Amino acid sequence: MTDIPATYFDGRTSRPHAVTLRWHALDGVLEVAGEEVALRLARRDVTVESRLGRGPRFIRFADGGRCEVADNDTLDAVIATWAPQHGGNWLHRLETSWRLVAVAVVVLGAAMWAAIHHGLPWGAKKVAFMLPAEFTRVLGDQTLEALDRAMLAPTTLTHERQIKLRADFAAFLQAAGDTTPYQIEFRALKGQGANAFALPSGTIVISDELVLLAEDDREIVAVLAHECAHVRHRHVLRAVLQNSAVVVAFALVTGDASSTAAFGGAVPTWLLQSKFSREFEREADADAVEKLRAAGLDPAHLATMLGRLSSAHGDDKLALPEYARSHPPTQERINAIKGAR
Ligand SMILES: [Zn+2]
Repeated sequence: MTDIPATYFDGRTSRPHAVTLRWHALDGVLEVAGEEVALRLARRDVTVESRLGRGPRFIRFADGGRCEVADNDTLDAVIATWAPQHGGNWLHRLETSWRLVAVAVVVLGAAMWAAIHHGLPWGAKKVAFMLPAEFTRVLGDQTLEALDRAMLAPTTLTHERQIKLRADFAAFLQAAGDTTPYQIEFRALKGQGANAFALPSGTIVISDELVLLAEDDREIVAVLAHECAHVRHRHVLRAVLQNSAVVVAFALVTGDASSTAAFGGAVPTWLLQSKFSREFEREADADAVEKLRAAGLDPAHLATMLGRLSSAHGDDKLALPEYARSHPPTQERINAIKGAR
């Protein structure tokens, strides 16, 4: 009987278990023993992989479990007496060629770089547009509930004022030919100041402070036009997916489901703390300019509102709402909007 230390995986999660392999040569039984593992396997249910270079190798079990063993030489010696029919080692000689290994490392590195820099945004966009309306609705509702608990207060705007702004917005959508079912929510933002943001469901939250900051209602419609663009291009979902792709990949590798569940919780945090990429912000500005023009409104109202927000928030960049806290500096965006007219 020989003992070999190994790492056991049950085949259902990727959680590793430290175990000892006991090879009973006489009755052909392999015992796998660890803190949470106690298995007895017959010879016919055990497959030992061929040796591949100096790396660890796997012993596979009929039920999908497997063990990783680092001590190749001891394993070879044990297998020779325990299960004489294990695979040959021609692959071992082939794989030790360092040239092959070097090429594999370079190719793998390039593939990973390409996957992260190009594949991630591409994949996030595909997934964001594939998510069913029911998913985005639930995600939007949950996000609004979380924000209401944490930092939003009921609006202090009068009923008449809300009706007037909703009517302006509806008139803009109709004139611009946008049939997306948006939903406006007025809220007071405790200490956060003028802000507006769009949830993945199409709900747009606008703060009382922003309404008060505007000197012309068309400036509010212009901000809403910008938020509508974020909704139609699914920018929030794409940004959260891109940023959490690494978390999701990590969760799959470690088998830790709790980090995947964190995805839903990431949305409210992201909305108020992060910023959109330069590309998303430009896309939303350009889209807003186009729709405002189609509706017969001057896109300069968006530039005016950006300027007001920038001065209202002063140097406190972190307190700026998402559309004024972006990568392209506010002045650059104002010039771009005015230039697009
Ligand atoms: Zn924006």
